[in-house]
Amino acid sequence: TDHGETLVTDLIICCTGLKINSAAYSATFNDSMAENGALKVNGHLQVDGFSNIFAVGDCTNVNEPKTAYNAGFHAAVAVANIANSVSGKELTSYQTGNVTMLLAMGHDDGVGQYNGFRLPRWFVAWGKSRDVLVWKSWKEMKQKQP
Ligand SMILES: Cc1cc2nc3c(=O)[nH]c(=O)nc-3n(C[C@H](O)[C@H](O)[C@H](O)COP(=O)(O)OP(=O)(O)OC[C@H]3O[C@@H](n4cnc5c(N)ncnc54)[C@H](O)[C@@H]3O)c2cc1C
Repeated sequence: TDHGETLVTDLIICCTGLKINSAAYSATFNDSMAENGALKVNGHLQVDGFSNIFAVGDCTNVNEPKTAYNAGFHAAVAVANIANSVSGKELTSYQTGNVTMLLAMGHDDGVGQYNGFRLPRWFVAWGKSRDVLVWKSWKEMKQKQP
């Protein structure tokens, strides 16, 4: 360790956490940023101070686990709201759901919860660990998996 201590371990899991990289927008949206560099958004996912700019995914200050799963829901709301803005319809809102998390632990094991309910390990292994949902990305991109 940084104090010269030696630890004998079987496994080390590095958990450094994620830091928002705001380099792409910090100059332009400085006034719309939270302290950690996230973009402040309202319930419609509009960036603070702008009605025609939306943010989705990890860069937002939505208070929830930062996952691709949630980013997909953000995207659906932002896309709908861009269309709604253009057609003059009422904007839709993003609601954070209960925590859903499927954690693959190798090919044959995993833990997870869906909408607050703990899932059986075999179910997570069957549903996610075997191929980490790669099929879903191929499907969403309308491509055939080779
Ligand atoms: C180890 C790990 C495991 C994860 N597992 C899961 C999981 O199982 N399920 C799940 O749902 N989520 C998971 N996540 C979280 C998921 O990866 C993120 O929530 C998701 O990728 C966020 O998508 P995003 O498009 O908002 O941001 P990102 O995927 O981070 O995309 C941002 C992109 O912008 C680019 N970029 C940044 N700055 C600039 C710039 N100045 N110019 C040009 N490009 C720039 C970056 O290179 C990056 O490609 C995991 C994350 C990690 C780190």
